[in-house]
Amino acid sequence: MRPPTDSLARSAARLAGAALGALALGALAAPEPAPAHRVVVVVFDGMRPDFVSAETTPNLWKLATRGVVFAHHHPVFLCSTEVNGTAIATGAFPSHSTVIANVDFRPRIDPQMTVAIEAPGTIRRGDEVSGGHYIAALTVAEILHAHGLKTVIAGSKQVALLHDRARRPNAPGVSPVLYEGTTLPPAAELPLPALLGDFPPVPDDQFKGARDAWTTSALIGTFWKDGLPPYTLLWLSEPDFSQHATAPGSEQSLKAVKSSDDNLGRVLAEIDRRGLTATTDVFVVSDHGFSTIGWKVDIAVELSQAGFQTGRAALGGLKPGAVVAVSNGGSTLLYVGGHDPDVCRRLAAYLQLQDWAGVVFSSKPLPGTFSLAEAHIDTPEAPDLVVSLHWTLAKSKNGTPGLQTSDLAPTAKKEGNHASLCPTDMHNMLVAAGPDLGRGVLDTLPSGNTDIAPTVLWILGLRKEASKMDGRVLGEALVTEAPPLKSYQVKRLEASRSTMGGAWRQYLQVSEVNGVRYLDEGNGSFQPQPH
Ligand SMILES: [Zn+2]
Ligand SMILES: [Zn+2]
Repeated sequence: MRPPTDSLARSAARLAGAALGALALGALAAPEPAPAHRVVVVVFDGMRPDFVSAETTPNLWKLATRGVVFAHHHPVFLCSTEVNGTAIATGAFPSHSTVIANVDFRPRIDPQMTVAIEAPGTIRRGDEVSGGHYIAALTVAEILHAHGLKTVIAGSKQVALLHDRARRPNAPGVSPVLYEGTTLPPAAELPLPALLGDFPPVPDDQFKGARDAWTTSALIGTFWKDGLPPYTLLWLSEPDFSQHATAPGSEQSLKAVKSSDDNLGRVLAEIDRRGLTATTDVFVVSDHGFSTIGWKVDIAVELSQAGFQTGRAALGGLKPGAVVAVSNGGSTLLYVGGHDPDVCRRLAAYLQLQDWAGVVFSSKPLPGTFSLAEAHIDTPEAPDLVVSLHWTLAKSKNGTPGLQTSDLAPTAKKEGNHASLCPTDMHNMLVAAGPDLGRGVLDTLPSGNTDIAPTVLWILGLRKEASKMDGRVLGEALVTEAPPLKSYQVKRLEASRSTMGGAWRQYLQVSEVNGVRYLDEGNGSFQPQPH
């Protein structure tokens, strides 16, 4: 959030002084609050917490005054849309869900080309080759359906499909999914064009506010027509697209933030119109933070020039010792054919000399790297190396802090990106309000996207299912009964490798609450030895 400037934020900040940053919320609670009958989660894709303000996001600001602002909220790494869509859906770390990137090389799904994790074709093929475990953890929607509870999932991007991907019959009472203008079951789509017109095309400036407004209308007017189910998720694609095209803080990006806030306002007004505000908990979250692109580096070209046989795909299959470099913006996955140990070792040593490298992770122990497990990205099909690119907290021309290096062709028309370990990528927004939440509270304890699913299930009474998830129930923010706060610590991990001319040093700052780990930031650099 922006620095506290108004009385609400000031009083919230005063309240936040308690031990460990946890608040004595009981004292703030309305007497005997009634638990929520339903939960609505609204996602602003790519929204940074420092763009929440009374002027730009009046609806979110108002919601915050009657709820909890989570001041230290985290995405999971890689902090990209599909990874965090999955984390929000499952409460699982990427190591457990197996979704570690937006774009990945999964030879079982496609032995030659990289795949977009959220594409329906990838999802279907992924379920075929894994016996239905493309996402290896259950989603909130799947768990609720197993308990006979209805859900509505609506998103203007395909990430919505990751929340509830099963094919389903067109039967009365079936839970619908709307993703980028398409539905499951297909028949759920029928009334939409007549009511709303066709799903809007993408304009030249990439501003997708019209798609978000269309999706919000479909949710309110069609999927909520017969009432609100116990769980609704609305995924709005802005400000992500505008921030990619024009950088965070640009005029268009601020318009995009406002557009998502307008859609939130429509959702809140509809809940109010139905008289359900007192019995509905609303969570407004973003999937990840955002940075301005300060430097571009085409890692496939760099590695090729350094003598590694590197491609962006593996035509004919990945040959032993060859490398596929999969860019996710601020981080890149490196797959080595046959997991050749010599190539992996030489790759790590090469990366540790580059000014564009930030933090190097490796699947097998290598000098000066962290294990994939330290970042919760150790899956059975994990890359051999992952490099998060270098960043600084310098300000952009829009006055927005956070400049990252992105793995992109230098000619690419893109001004903003995410998925690095820059703190502006690794901190996102969460505001929640409703009968289960404290009022006018600033929660300064670390929290993360993996905590949303267990908190939602806890609120809806599925406590056993909540306790099985990797994330924690955000008990310090609840006024109803919740698991106690047991531990909080901050750690700094360091790794280094000395060479003839100097030393590579990298760090990772990690917060832990009740044993749940949040990555705050990480960076690294080669420091030449003075002669
Ligand atoms: Zn996103
Ligand atoms: Zn994005």
